[in-house]
Formats: sequence, C-alpha cells, structure tokens
Amino acid sequence: NENDTIIILSYEHMLQLSKILTNYLITQNKSHIIIDHMLFSFVYNKVLHLSSIFEKALLPLKKEVFGIDSILERWEYCIRQTDDAFGYGLGALYTRAVFDEASRLKANELVKNIRLSFEENLNNLQWIDEQSKNEAKKKLEKINEKIGYPDFIKNQTKLNERYAGYSMIENEYFYNTIKVINREHKRKILKYRQKVDPTAWRMTPRTVNAYYSPPSNEIVFPAGILQPPLFHKDLPLAINYGAIGTIIGHEITHGFDNQGRQFDGDGNMRSWWTNISLNNFQDRTKCFMKQYSNFTIDGQHENGQRTLGENIADNGGIKISYFAYQKHKQSTLNSDNDFCLPGLNYNNDQLFFISFAHTWCNIQTLNSMHHDLINDPHSPPPFRIIGTVQNSDEFSKAFSCRSKTTMNPSNKCQLW
Ligand SMILES: [Zn+2]
Repeated sequence: NENDTIIILSYEHMLQLSKILTNYLITQNKSHIIIDHMLFSFVYNKVLHLSSIFEKALLPLKKEVFGIDSILERWEYCIRQTDDAFGYGLGALYTRAVFDEASRLKANELVKNIRLSFEENLNNLQWIDEQSKNEAKKKLEKINEKIGYPDFIKNQTKLNERYAGYSMIENEYFYNTIKVINREHKRKILKYRQKVDPTAWRMTPRTVNAYYSPPSNEIVFPAGILQPPLFHKDLPLAINYGAIGTIIGHEITHGFDNQGRQFDGDGNMRSWWTNISLNNFQDRTKCFMKQYSNFTIDGQHENGQRTLGENIADNGGIKISYFAYQKHKQSTLNSDNDFCLPGLNYNNDQLFFISFAHTWCNIQTLNSMHHDLINDPHSPPPFRIIGTVQNSDEFSKAFSCRSKTTMNPSNKCQLW
C-alpha cells in the first residue's frame, strides 16, 4: 500500500543505496553488476551449507577481506546451525544446563538497580530541562525487560507449536536448510499488518549478545550473555557490575541515544524534547563525534558520526553501572559478595574498571579491523575502553590519574 508509513532507522544509508542502485540500473552496461552482486550474495551465504570443499574455495576471499585463514570446526558450525534453525529448542536444553532460577533472579536484580541508577543520574543532569527530564523518566519507566529466555520454551507443547511443520528429511542437509530459511521468511512476512507480539524475542537464548529496540522500547539479555566471564551469580559485585552491568547500562542508554531519543515510551516516533534540551543534547554529541574521530588504526580514522549512538550508550552504560555498583556495595557492606580477587592488588573500584575493560578483549587481524572500521556501528574494542574511561571522572579517581594526561583529559564528553 502506497500510504503505508515506513520507519527508516538509517536514512543516510537508504539515501546512498538508492543513489547507487539508480546509477547502476539506468546505465545499460552497468545493470548486470547489481544482478551479479545479488547472485553472488546468495551463493556466498549458502556455500557454508555445502560440503567443506566449497567452504575451502571461499577461504582466499575471506583471508583477503577479514584475515580469516581457517574454517570453523564442524562441532561449532553444527551448534550455530542448530541455533539458527531451532534456536528455542536448543535454548530449552541450554538454559536447563547453565541458567538456573537463582541466576535469573540475580540478573533481574542487577537490571533493576541499574535502571534506578539511570533515573537518579538523570535527576542530577543540568543540561536537560524539567519538562524533557519528566518525559525521559516516563520513557525509562516503560522500558520492557526480557532476561534469560522467553517463558514459552519451558512449555513443551508451546515449543512444539513453534516448530510445527518443520519436518526434516534424513540425508538431505542442504534441502532441509533451505526449507528452514523459507519457513522463517514466511513467518516474518505473515507478521505484516499483524499486531506486534510484545513477548517475541529477536535473539535466541544461547546468543552472547543483547539489544535495545526503539519501536518496542525493550531491553533484552539472553542467557548466553549472562555467563562467565561477563556474569555469574557468585562473582564479586565489582566484576558483575563492571562487565554485564555496563552492558545493561549500555542497552538502557540506547533508549536515549541519537536514534533512541526520537521514539517515545510506547515506541512511537515522536519528539518529546523541548528545543532547548534538544539543542543541548546535540551540542554534547559533537564532543563525542570529535573525540572518537581522533582515534586511528594504522593511520585510518574512526568515523565518530557513524559510531555516535554506540558511544553514547557505552558512556552512559559505564557511568550508571558504576553508580549502581557503589549503591549496592554500600547496602551490602558486610556481606562477602564484595571480596577482592586473590593475588591481585587492586581495590574494588579499580576491579570494576578492569572488569569493564576485559569485556572488550579480543583478537582481530588488521584486515578485519579495517573492515569493521568502515562497517561496524560500534567503535573498535580498544576505543570502546579508552574512549569511555577518558570521559569518566570515576575512573581517574579510582586510579589516581594525573590531570591533563591521555587517560584523564581536562575536556570530558558527558551526556547521560
Ligand atoms: Zn549498542
């Protein structure tokens, strides 16, 4: 229908894409390039489901683009495929093994404390006026949270219903895979014009990731990310708040970043900002854009404009998790949940930041880093650490950083 409203989250992307498509499609001798690209993308994405000689044929390309020079172990591949095809069935087995009720309760408690911390921090902000502040609070209150797994996976009947019609044929692996892909597409298309199901998840339980969705105004943390080293119910508070806590804070802050702020608490695209608060917001975002654009890998600059939303979320996340941690620590002063780590001569506040930094430890080839630098909306992991702690007064205090040094610059970017 011509009158349907479509929400485009990356307007700039669609604009550039349609320029490219128009340019290629109207030029007679260029139009085949688009068709080739579509065919290539299809084959490229499906080759993995064929036997390993096909996978090996892809290796030189993967090495060039991502620096990858080995193929995935079969067992790992099989788990991924099972998760893609029957993620909630696998999730039922997974959560039974590694995510008990005590873990879920502890994770709920962390989310509750960090939400509260966002609100308390919001009260102290000077740049946003009372009217916008109240609107922000209303939005915060309405954020729906999903922790661990959707309840239906514990119900055998409902789980079977979810995969009704997914009959597999023995010895027909490729065919089965295509069948699953078709089914999942169909499921998505059937949702068109249907009422949104607020209980639906967009990630399976074993996924090591989390998300905030602006149109659903919800934060989601699958059981897969609620695992060591990011989270465990018996870890010291400093470790939990420094790792999963900053991620929880990150997702909440997404509701108030440069994209999330355009939606209200009910997920409608509606401005709830006064002009003066919005101007202040935008002024402050310029500071982040400048700071992160200065980071380079091998001479290539990060694009602080593209990574803005993620950087706002990282900076808000670490701050509110730190405050939530301080408050939790005070209330459990005598409990043994806040011990230090044996053999490490760091106090708890320092451990919080060390735990945060560990979250982003990774191994990556230079090729892959350059690829991410132009594609990933997140800052490269080293700058997710350096950028945020440079802006953190609490970090400088914890480590007694001298003022006007690299890790404690006098100009700090602050938003939430
Ligand atoms: Zn994010």
